[in-house]
Amino acid sequence: MKKFLILSIVLFAGLALLAGCGPGEQAQAPEQAAEMAEPAKPKTTFVTIGTGGITGVYYPTGGAIAKIVNAKKDEYGIRATVESTGGSVFNVNAVMAGDLQFGVVQSDRQYQAMKGMAEWEGKPQTDLRACFSIHPESITLVAAVDSGIQSFDDIKGKRVNIGNPGSGQRQNSIDAIEAAGMNFESDMIAEGIKAAEAPGLLQDGRIDAFFYTVGHPSGAIKEATAGARKVRFIPITQIDTLLSQYPYYAKAFIPVKVYPGAENRQDVQTFGVKATFVTSAKVPESVVYAIVKEVFDNFETFKKLHPAYAVLTKQNMMEGLSAPLHSGAEKYFKEAGMM
Ligand code: GLU
Repeated sequence: MKKFLILSIVLFAGLALLAGCGPGEQAQAPEQAAEMAEPAKPKTTFVTIGTGGITGVYYPTGGAIAKIVNAKKDEYGIRATVESTGGSVFNVNAVMAGDLQFGVVQSDRQYQAMKGMAEWEGKPQTDLRACFSIHPESITLVAAVDSGIQSFDDIKGKRVNIGNPGSGQRQNSIDAIEAAGMNFESDMIAEGIKAAEAPGLLQDGRIDAFFYTVGHPSGAIKEATAGARKVRFIPITQIDTLLSQYPYYAKAFIPVKVYPGAENRQDVQTFGVKATFVTSAKVPESVVYAIVKEVFDNFETFKKLHPAYAVLTKQNMMEGLSAPLHSGAEKYFKEAGMM
């Protein structure tokens, strides 16, 4: 019995560490062991949020949501942890498989998964559910100045990272390339590496440019613009073609003031989407309700957790959702008089 207790404490402390909580919270481990002897208390529900590369904005976003929810662990019995993943497409698939309970997913990818398009061609993900949307993301093309890439068409013949399979950006890159009348397989050397590795490869001279669909500021773009090899953002000028072809794209820009190392002096035009927070119809209403309620009831606190959230309002966090709202989210929004 004693051995079992010690093992429980060690296991719990390990999970607490994974959840990235502070020493104050880890000190609860003995309490948790005591709870096991008293079955009256509700047991902890562990939920994992799928994000993206650690230098993106999804990873800190998962952390921000987990932090807000974990602060009320005693009330809800929910312990949220965050996982770094390959991005939007991976997250949809992992949430649908039940490997993750929540995921941060681009709005265009949510739309495609729902309708059975792109990676889900002919296989609509009918159990996908929306909770709320988060920060805007813009399709960001970063090129080395010495590569000679000045305008979008100059990526022809160059070595360009379009994004790993599993990422949201891969399809955005392909759409932008096609709207410019090029083919990613025959007109350039397209790489499929993760966004977190791209800035290093650009700085090392192993690629000429990379695409990343991300909120600003992001660690990855800071890393790419702060190195010895000078870089510039390339404007995406074929926006009208993109907007006429795809219902989920909107005009956007890259704010250059957050990247003083980049060569650009003016904000850069491009197109964008929104980050959204999704789950599965199979995740219990009470869990989704608790998470949505904590994020919205603590909106001002949440908003301060990342500079990319500066533009958020409670109202625009209900826009850009194409999957049906999860019943737990709907319950909260109705209760709060928001719908
Ligand atoms: N938009 C990217 C994706 O869906 C992730 C961006 C981020 O991690 O902030 O894969």
